[in-house]
Amino acid sequence: MLDTASNRPELPSEIARRRTFAIISHPDAGKTTLTEKFLLYGGAIQMAGQVRAKGEARRTRSDFMQMEKDRGISVSASAMSFDYGTFRFNLVDTPGHSDFSEDTYRTLTAVDAAVMVIDGAKGVESQTQKLFEVCRLRDLPILTFCNKMDRESREIFDIIDEIQENLAIDVTPASWPIGVGRDFVGTYDILHDRLELMDRADRNKVAESIEINGLDDPKLAEHVPAHLLETFLEELEMARELLPALDRQALLDGTMTPIWFGSAINSFGVKELMDGIANFGPEPQVQVAQPRDIAPEEKKVAGFVFKVQANMDPKHRDRVAFVRMASGHFKRGMKLTHVRTKKPMAISNPVLFLASDRELAEEAWAGDIIGIPNHGQLRIGDTLTEGEALRVSGIPSFAPELLQSVRAGDPLKSKHLEKALMQFAEEGAAKVFKPSVGSGFIVGVVGPLQFEVLASRIEMEYGLPVRFEQSQFTSARWVAGDKQAIDKFTAANSQHIAHDHDGDIVYLTRLKWDIDRVERDYPDLKLTSTKEMM
Ligand code: GDP
Repeated sequence: MLDTASNRPELPSEIARRRTFAIISHPDAGKTTLTEKFLLYGGAIQMAGQVRAKGEARRTRSDFMQMEKDRGISVSASAMSFDYGTFRFNLVDTPGHSDFSEDTYRTLTAVDAAVMVIDGAKGVESQTQKLFEVCRLRDLPILTFCNKMDRESREIFDIIDEIQENLAIDVTPASWPIGVGRDFVGTYDILHDRLELMDRADRNKVAESIEINGLDDPKLAEHVPAHLLETFLEELEMARELLPALDRQALLDGTMTPIWFGSAINSFGVKELMDGIANFGPEPQVQVAQPRDIAPEEKKVAGFVFKVQANMDPKHRDRVAFVRMASGHFKRGMKLTHVRTKKPMAISNPVLFLASDRELAEEAWAGDIIGIPNHGQLRIGDTLTEGEALRVSGIPSFAPELLQSVRAGDPLKSKHLEKALMQFAEEGAAKVFKPSVGSGFIVGVVGPLQFEVLASRIEMEYGLPVRFEQSQFTSARWVAGDKQAIDKFTAANSQHIAHDHDGDIVYLTRLKWDIDRVERDYPDLKLTSTKEMM
């Protein structure tokens, strides 16, 4: 029997039907293909292939996007909403490349669950592991999809072992594959006792589904060739002996992941996965905030910015703040309080990211993602409420691991450069430090690819050719502590002091042991490698 009971029975039905999640995977495992099939089953697009086709039409518009395409990576994250049966799915896209991990981290603060896609021939790859660890930090529930079962795959028990060992999470099979590679005929749906048969001739066809009454049902032998059936029955028996049964609480706690086997390109196994997301959710969860947490069923509206994307439309210098609704029922035109500045903001043009296009959002419920166009007032980490001074916490900014100094090709344009850099800093695309001695800026990122993206965006969006050069510094730390100690420290180390775009003090150094020395010499100071964005 399936235990699909809600862990938050008090939720209004509009909120309880929402599922807000992200897909995490190593590049090439099939995230794009799976997304397309989600949208296809969600009725958001008529034909698979539209996401990519649309993506490509958009990409040709700019060099930056061209770069994305050449490298086969998705740099910018976006959100998509669509209905699946009685459910509303909000799928938040995450950049797959490790150089954009900070962006990914923040995106994962806006979802209630993640779908982990792995390639059946490759198992857990490096990027899967990294992204998984980010999910683990927040104990996000994870549903696993083992893709490309139409090809030669690894031993199923090997794949499951690898997930259990490398990711330290219990795995429970929600389905079991029958046959491998060319012999793959379909899966047995363990949760519903059904046989799902894959149609190789029609990639977009929903699989044929046959109710099975226990494993000795003669219907199995009618549909599965004898040599495959024998192996399958043996494997399933072993799986039932060795692997734990589904435990919904463990799934919600992030300690157990159900795994489905399928082939995204053949639309196979996708529906079962979507049913899994619908049934096991979870529904919108409580948001950690200060001075108190925010429950989704609260009547009053609250939401927080987890991403800012600038210049989505190159003709208008607009920015869109992506807001995850944390509570209540939002209606277009509402006046919300921007908690950081205590100013009211009328939200008159919120955007809902329907898979087909951007659309005005007339309303939104806790769990939804809306886009709010603005001119820079909204920053990552900002909270919007109906007046109460609540601040969503846990959206971090990480100290960059790579630092370079940047100069405008034309020295007369340095004011322009400053403006461009500040914008990227607010967007969260890079850290920008202004040294207290001398001119110029130091830019910090997590991965080297970000420098290229920045250079190309500054040139494209601001018409400013720039040069990134090696910096004399390699590490940055935020300085916190007692004001007197900070003043004394900054006066004695002015060559190493800079300010970030919020005006917070940063210590720059080339030698890691300098950091230890400072902490020893100034016990009233703290050098930190993360800062809460608020
Ligand atoms: P992403 O990088 O994770 O977004 O991966 P894509 O969705 O772009 O897929 C990578 C490649 O794998 C593409 O060539 C897809 O056509 C292919 N692919 C995706 N799903 C399947 C599948 O189920 N079976 C096979 N054989 N290939 C697949």
